[in-house]
Amino acid sequence: MSNLRFKVVEEAFKKRPLDVPAPKERPSEYFGKYVFNREKMFKYLPLATYEKLREVIEKRIPLDLAVADEVARGMKRWAMEMGATHCTHWFQPLTEGTAEKHDAFVEHDGKGGMLENFSGKELVQQEPDASSFPNGGIRSTFEARGYSAWDPASPVFIVGDTLMIPTVFISYTGEALDYKAPLKKSLAAIDRAATAVAQLFDRHVHHVNVNLGWEQEYFLVDEGLYAARPDLLLTGRTLMGHDSAKNQQMDDHYFGAIPERVAAFMKDLEIQALELGIPCKTRHNEVAPNQFELAPIFEECNLAVDHNMLIMSLMRKIARKHGFRCLLHEKPFAGINGSGKHNNWSLTTDTGVLLHAPGKTPEDNLRFITFIVETLMAVYRHNGLIKASIMSATNSHRLGAHEAPPAIISSFLGSQVAELLDRVESSTKDELFTMEGKHGVRLDIPQIPELMIDNTDRNRTSPFAFTGNRFEFRAVGSSANCASAMLTLNTAVAEALTDFRRRVDALMAGGEGKISAILDVLREDIKTCKPIRFDGNGYSDEWKEEAARRGLDCETSCPLVIDRYLDPESIDMYESMHVMNRHELEARNEIKWETYQKKIQIEARVLGDICMNHIIPVATKYQSELVDNVHKIYSVFPPEKAKELTAYNVDLIEKINKHTNFIAENVEKMVERRKEVNRIENIREKAIAYHDDIAPYMDSIRYHVDKLELIVEDEMWTLPKYRELLFVR
Ligand code: ADP
Ligand code: MG
Repeated sequence: MSNLRFKVVEEAFKKRPLDVPAPKERPSEYFGKYVFNREKMFKYLPLATYEKLREVIEKRIPLDLAVADEVARGMKRWAMEMGATHCTHWFQPLTEGTAEKHDAFVEHDGKGGMLENFSGKELVQQEPDASSFPNGGIRSTFEARGYSAWDPASPVFIVGDTLMIPTVFISYTGEALDYKAPLKKSLAAIDRAATAVAQLFDRHVHHVNVNLGWEQEYFLVDEGLYAARPDLLLTGRTLMGHDSAKNQQMDDHYFGAIPERVAAFMKDLEIQALELGIPCKTRHNEVAPNQFELAPIFEECNLAVDHNMLIMSLMRKIARKHGFRCLLHEKPFAGINGSGKHNNWSLTTDTGVLLHAPGKTPEDNLRFITFIVETLMAVYRHNGLIKASIMSATNSHRLGAHEAPPAIISSFLGSQVAELLDRVESSTKDELFTMEGKHGVRLDIPQIPELMIDNTDRNRTSPFAFTGNRFEFRAVGSSANCASAMLTLNTAVAEALTDFRRRVDALMAGGEGKISAILDVLREDIKTCKPIRFDGNGYSDEWKEEAARRGLDCETSCPLVIDRYLDPESIDMYESMHVMNRHELEARNEIKWETYQKKIQIEARVLGDICMNHIIPVATKYQSELVDNVHKIYSVFPPEKAKELTAYNVDLIEKINKHTNFIAENVEKMVERRKEVNRIENIREKAIAYHDDIAPYMDSIRYHVDKLELIVEDEMWTLPKYRELLFVR
């Protein structure tokens, strides 16, 4: 059959799982094989250098160049033993991916030959000519200096023949051009603020760390089918496609047996991820057909972010090896679940955990309540901004769809913690509180041991849910850099904690006892942040009305949501916490609006092209066949009879006309409107126009394309259908 679609489906069906040989060693032995971790530092660095580097990492102090030279020497020796020939600074520009520029380990030897070299300076700093990275005008092309600087807190690693050095990326004037620089500043801010608060309860606390455990959702689609869909190829999502008759309604994919070709991919991915030091733990099928999830054990936030960036690039690469394409887009298919990236966020001190209850003593419980309440205060005060931190052209398709959190930030605490806060709020004395922990439940099933039941219930519909010892931020998009959400959350919590400590200190300075001062401030805050607490169904329409009444940010338009970054209280928050300044925020917003506008522009162009040179020609061809058939019937039968016999086809001919006319007219209108909108100079206005005027065309055009897909003869339809994209593997 000449139909490309049939051909790729047939080929996809024939593909067998790749054989992925199990490593000879156990995971604990090959974990971190390609990472210059503590163990290798110890082996390859002189002891004094090792100690200095350890100090830099642990005490978070700057590295001096003499030490860097020693470190580089040891690193080079290790990297060359591992077969590396090149090195690169690996950074996270605002394009959402990662960037790298490889340099070989070679230099002139001064005698006409070459020698292998890698200096401390090359390790510590590079100057990738970076005028073509988005910078929102911070760095104009003629002064295209961008510097990348090593982040010793994230160990270097080897991919293929290249030593990868995690770096921050900043401009000539020191402003951040990436995600890592402000993330690290936010981690320092929360460390300062949370340590000051934790010391109210335990003066031995010196540092507070943020942990992040992300859960990465993704789709796999056979590569042949993918290549036959120009929309997937160019935009990462399907711009058309009628629902498959069967999709996820049976709930039979979630946690189901993993398909063999996919299992081989997962095995390969996990081995390579473990070798790169990513502690993979969980894998399973997700709700939608061909949708899956991978989650590692949580790590320190900065490292976890790097590991997530790395896993996304590994997923893409390894998927291709297995004949798949990995879709990280938040909503590759309409009508079924999209993909998110739950960010499990928690705080630990150098002496223990902060968000865990019940503690050993009532004072521990008070500390727990303090950190819960101040996190809620942060999320309440900046709920619009926190939404902005996860908003993008791609994620906006998912938010508010039936499976994802709405575009309103609220927090679920579970009944036990909620009751506890109510008790603190209504208490008048300075009493301390006890809590119940996990309790054993004896089951009346033979041979099944007693189960430990958690003290928190769950609510899948909440965008920011407390789950026992962490908050789970579920609104983050699957393709996003986690740093965007994390740095905003960290900064907001740092601000809330700073404010908390300041108010407690003021009361204590006025002669009030510590516990009493803490309780007074908590009572006030519990009242203030109440509107952010919501334990009901976040997917319901009643909640949208209720949230608006409570004054929560309910905006859904991506370009307008992004405005929140430039609210005075947002700028004040970032500046007072020393994370970003107004200029950086303004520059970043320019990039966000531009990215939004360009994405919609590309989608609109792709949709227009496919309509004009696939959909309409195919539909017209089918229509001609129908016309032919009608003619032929009239040539055989008397008119009366022929009319009766052709009624169905004549009706189809008209329907096809209706749809193709609509599509052709609206593609043209969309193109015309684009021409007008493209003349808008102000990038924010342009993004808004794309949202308000262009995006709606795409939905209405799609509706008619999908109707045609149902009408046109299957054999003529060249674009792989949902049922194939989602079920062939
Ligand atoms: P679920 O899907 O039920 O939320 P998963 O097991 O898929 O659970 O994911 C839980 C994620 O939360 C994992 O990445 C895990 O490492 C992370 N996590 C568990 N405890 C913490 C914690 N204290 N801080 C941060 N992340 C955590
Ligand atoms: Mg989860």
